[in-house]
Amino acid sequence: MDTQTILVLNTGSSSLKFSLITTDDQKVVFSGLADKLGLPDATITFRHNGKKNETPLSPGNHKQAVSEIFSYIHAQGLTGSIAGVGHRVVHGGEQFKTSTVIDKAVLAAIEACVPFAPLHNPANLVGIRGAMEVAPHLPQVAVFDTAFHQTIPEHAYLYAVPMQWYRQYGVRRYGFHGTSHQYVVQRAANELGIPLNDSAFISAHLGNGASATAVLNGKSVDTTMGFTPLEGLVMGTRSGDIDPGLPPYIAQSLGITPDEVVNLLNKKSGLLGLSELSNDMRELTEAAAKGHKGASVAIEVFVFRLAKAIGALAVSLPRIDALIFTGGIGENSVLVREKVLKRLKVFGFIADAGANAKAVGGTGGVITILDSPVAMVVNTNEEAMIVKQTIEVLKNK
Ligand code: AMP
Repeated sequence: MDTQTILVLNTGSSSLKFSLITTDDQKVVFSGLADKLGLPDATITFRHNGKKNETPLSPGNHKQAVSEIFSYIHAQGLTGSIAGVGHRVVHGGEQFKTSTVIDKAVLAAIEACVPFAPLHNPANLVGIRGAMEVAPHLPQVAVFDTAFHQTIPEHAYLYAVPMQWYRQYGVRRYGFHGTSHQYVVQRAANELGIPLNDSAFISAHLGNGASATAVLNGKSVDTTMGFTPLEGLVMGTRSGDIDPGLPPYIAQSLGITPDEVVNLLNKKSGLLGLSELSNDMRELTEAAAKGHKGASVAIEVFVFRLAKAIGALAVSLPRIDALIFTGGIGENSVLVREKVLKRLKVFGFIADAGANAKAVGGTGGVITILDSPVAMVVNTNEEAMIVKQTIEVLKNK
């Protein structure tokens, strides 16, 4: 293969998503998932040329998964094509404002951010160390979820708590989903023919996790997620914003610890908690249509809170060139988009019912009528953004 490629690794605590992507046109050569890592029934699945191949992985740890990926690359004769490895890293604290080549100091800095993302950063580090060991000759690049939000001004990232908490413990709003917000905003500017450096967007990434961001001239100026990815919008199983007086009250009422309350806010709240049925918007939409009260309530709260957040984000912009919907819900839920635009009457949005109904399953496009401010669907592609940033970092190395 003559074309150069980047291997993208997205390591979670028990899974590792991977894809080999070409640098020139960001085509996926192959992709896959190592799942249930650390368990006896761990597997690794490769998707290549329209075929799917799943095999057991034993002993099934992260390092072995990385080894298997490189063995596969070798067996396919693709070794020479790889220019580097791009790693998704969830938390880069205040230190990382852009993506960066990983060396010892960067590893230590990612390690230092573990207290901010105790579930994600340790897993990301395992993936990085595994890749460094298996392929020491390749440059490794970290692409941070938080980096895009490092342009948020102080008045938007500070909590109104004692300043010493910020100075000594790093208590501030960091924001997440940075690669997705950055990707869709660049795509939207392109599609609308607006120069990115003179643009004003609000992007709503609505998946199982959800956040919305105000982006001015290509730079994040406010976002809904905060110190952790629990703040902000209603999500699949996460509560989003709550009164901070609530956790101690619930801890006392249920006789549980503060950590257990946080766990419930992360895993048993949001759409799941409200509907008492599911965290899945598609399932809730179907149930609501059949008269399930909990499903309807969950959708209404989700929509209201999202519209309210969009209103709040608008404060950071001089105008709205477009409201962008992305993520599994943003890209597919005709109902949620229609309801959100209706809630945003104050801005003058009027949905084009036909265009909205058509923008599903990867179609994208503008979903408002000509006289309305623009709302549009852009399909996110975090892998493509990781490749783009990895290439940029390697060019400047
Ligand atoms: P993600 O985390 O980006 O994969 O998004 C997952 C969410 O997208 C889940 O809540 C899915 O139910 C939702 N989703 C996917 N397809 C549809 C659809 N056709 N209608 C409504 N929600 C959908």
